[in-house]
Amino acid sequence: MSLDLKSLVRTIPDYPKKGILFRDITTLIEHPEGFKDSIEQIAARYRGQGITHVAGIEARGFIFGAGVAIALGTGFVPIRKKGKLPGETIGQNYALEYGVDTIEIHADVVGPGHKVLLVDDLIATGGTAIAAIGLLRRTGAVCDDAAFVIDLPEIGGAAKLEAEGVRVSSLMA
Ligand code: IMP
Repeated sequence: MSLDLKSLVRTIPDYPKKGILFRDITTLIEHPEGFKDSIEQIAARYRGQGITHVAGIEARGFIFGAGVAIALGTGFVPIRKKGKLPGETIGQNYALEYGVDTIEIHADVVGPGHKVLLVDDLIATGGTAIAAIGLLRRTGAVCDDAAFVIDLPEIGGAAKLEAEGVRVSSLMA
């Protein structure tokens, strides 16, 4: 019988603030088969599709994205918070509940001819993923695929990505 990955994710109430139910994937990645299966199930969907790079969003997207890149035999592109990458960067602002944040990639990491798969642990409003896809597409690379461990469909992020021409997959809702 296959492992129930959803049962390995725990929900922590009132984190990071009151009223939020935080989906905590640390319990999934601490479980050897759970971690391996989640990477393998994501990678299986994208094998043979010409993906050249997997891009992961800081910080939990690095954990899953790096694993998927190894499983697919591609390079890994870290999408980082502003000021963390040492080389020349391009950035994209996106709105938070209160304020604005910026994500960056190295300016020369991907471009025309590349096909990038975006990976993150969770999609809620989709704001972070839309900013990441916009940034990757600005380089001339194709970024039409995004994979998440968890989708919160009632918040509508995946539908927003699909409206931007992005195919979305997730391991659980
Ligand atoms: P969005 O931009 O609203 O889709 O939020 C997604 C981003 O916030 C991702 O980078 C997630 O890592 C993070 N995030 C939001 N809610 C949770 C949660 O409940 N658990 C883990 N990460 C979360």
